Amino acid sequence: MIPATSFSGKRVALFGLGGSGTATAHSLVAGGAEVLCWDDNPDSVAKAVAEGIPTGDLREADWSGFAAFVLSPGVPLTHPKPHWTVELARGAGVEVIGDVELFCRERNRQAPDAPFIAITGTNGKSTTTALIAHILKTAGRDTQMGGNIGRAVMTLDPPEPQRHYVVECSSYQIDLAPSINPSAGVLLNLTPDHLDRHGTMQHYASIKERLVAGSDTAIVGVDDAYCVQIADRLESVGKQVVRISKRLPLTDGYFAAGTDLMEAVDGRYSRIAFLEDIGSLRGQHNAQNALAAVAACLKVGLELGEIQKGLESFPGLAHRMEQVARKGHVLFVNDSKATNADAAAPALSSFGRIYWIAGGLPKEGGIEPLRGFFPRIVKAYLIGEAAPAFAATLGEAVPYEISGTLAAAVDHAAREAAEDGGKEEAVVLLSPACASFDQFRNFELRGEAFRQAVAAMEGVTLIGGAR
Ligand code: ADP
Repeated sequence: MIPATSFSGKRVALFGLGGSGTATAHSLVAGGAEVLCWDDNPDSVAKAVAEGIPTGDLREADWSGFAAFVLSPGVPLTHPKPHWTVELARGAGVEVIGDVELFCRERNRQAPDAPFIAITGTNGKSTTTALIAHILKTAGRDTQMGGNIGRAVMTLDPPEPQRHYVVECSSYQIDLAPSINPSAGVLLNLTPDHLDRHGTMQHYASIKERLVAGSDTAIVGVDDAYCVQIADRLESVGKQVVRISKRLPLTDGYFAAGTDLMEAVDGRYSRIAFLEDIGSLRGQHNAQNALAAVAACLKVGLELGEIQKGLESFPGLAHRMEQVARKGHVLFVNDSKATNADAAAPALSSFGRIYWIAGGLPKEGGIEPLRGFFPRIVKAYLIGEAAPAFAATLGEAVPYEISGTLAAAVDHAAREAAEDGGKEEAVVLLSPACASFDQFRNFELRGEAFRQAVAAMEGVTLIGGAR
């Protein structure tokens, strides 16, 4: 745990006693702050009390005495409207911050040179964060990974000069970290998302921009117009910007040419890494993630050989285009995290002969946006409530069956893929383009059910990363 010493001897209010809020409360107490914590959910308050965390209703507190208000990132700061605690803090002139801000202040005090890589973007944050941490660890660096992935940031080990921090940041966390100052900040991409919580795309983009604006080196994916503007703006004010592109040769920066990762210096190109035969990093979207990882690792002094070794041994993350098993020429891929059409697009674009398991609780727009990928789908196996609507969209374009359950879909898809006479690899792909809640509690359990159904089949070879 990192004790938050920056508020030693001061009073701090905290709202939101979920996992990260509770961890932050412990860290503030350990750092010598006098905290008063609260949550709208009485069960969370009771749990905190049982853990010895001082609690009290913040409606009745004297806000003038607080040096800061720490808010959990899940609680609205601005949209659709500020939470009542935020109104009270603002009324009393108390600064509103989150756990990433506490981490930054602690690093500034204890080890300001400790390498700190922060990652954001609309898509690919977790993959890129895990990949960077993996490459650093493989190269023998003392590495701590957390934030919006895995461990809450204040539960990591305390800053030391040679300790590397790899921290995934959601836009909510950045919004609560006004002095975020990573050695390398990564902004992967920007597409409209979470606008219910950020109001407009401009506001959402401006929050994400803060992470790279505060970095020593800003690593920015320039494959969308929002990020191009941000890269240009930062460069115009003298910031060191490293551009990355998953599809376009750049004059300066890093770009992907197929599975080769290239460095461009003044229009001259050289290959610095490659993704060929790395199953966990297939697809153009993963080229973007890998380019960001390469740029960040170079920034903290890794050599190309060390980086390539890390890329090649990356196990990938569960439920994100996770290669689960092989049986003959059939590959089984679990992409259960794809809970809408946009999220299913990268997987559908990464394979050629797809036996596609899709469906669940439908989202607005259905699978119409995926029409361009229909020629890659040999057959669709539809499950859950969305099945009839998906069937209507597939129409004559793609053969399909309504399998109903995931178990039936896996069974039928595996059997028919095994009979596929094509030369190419056949892929049984769970990429549902739907939420899971009609049949599973969450996407993780849906992915786990897929993995188990595949693992139970005769003659399959499980793939390394698949637990
Ligand atoms: P996040 O943490 O931002 O939600 P993940 O790394 O968990 O992102 O990936 C979630 C899904 O987003 C993946 O299954 C994949 O479909 C898609 N994805 C991953 N990386 C990218 C990227 N760079 N660009 C677009 N989509 C991506």
